[in-house]
Amino acid sequence: MAPLDQVFTVDLRGLTEGRSRMVLSESGSNLKLPEDQLVISSDVVVELTLDRTGSLITAKGDISAIQTLVCARCLEPFECDVAAAFNAVFRMGQNDLQLEDEEDTLVEFGNNWVSFAPSIRESLILVVPIKPLCREDCRGLCQRCGKNLNYSHCDCPQETVDPRWNALKTFLEDNRGE
Ligand SMILES: [Zn+2]
Ligand SMILES: [Zn+2]
Repeated sequence: MAPLDQVFTVDLRGLTEGRSRMVLSESGSNLKLPEDQLVISSDVVVELTLDRTGSLITAKGDISAIQTLVCARCLEPFECDVAAAFNAVFRMGQNDLQLEDEEDTLVEFGNNWVSFAPSIRESLILVVPIKPLCREDCRGLCQRCGKNLNYSHCDCPQETVDPRWNALKTFLEDNRGE
């Protein structure tokens, strides 16, 4: 069977008993992520901890990368750090590897290697924000003229007025047309 993912692989021959740590780093584009869901604009770095007890191996991965998002308010692309994590447990057989949990299909195997690419892909997609904002106080686009209000003001009348501006609004209206 041809391996689906040949990235983020670990060769398990000679994995010693106890804990091993390693860092896997590859270009985000190697993950072949669905671009409508997630765009990674950096390397994806995975700090991997493997614990081997006999044939049983527990893997824990801490993922970090930079992703490009589109702000939900102003529609400008921006970059932000992303952090995610995954766990997997598997068992080394005589000639193969098996997942301890049958439900867990997030790791792929060759004869002596394992690829964590499916786990990494899944974990990264799970932490994509539903409503990304370029910054907390992004002012967004003017509902009327479409101007990005982070860069400039516009003279469109505002539909909803922040209560803090009511005093100024009343002042301006009182002084209009004199
Ligand atoms: Zn924004
Ligand atoms: Zn406007």
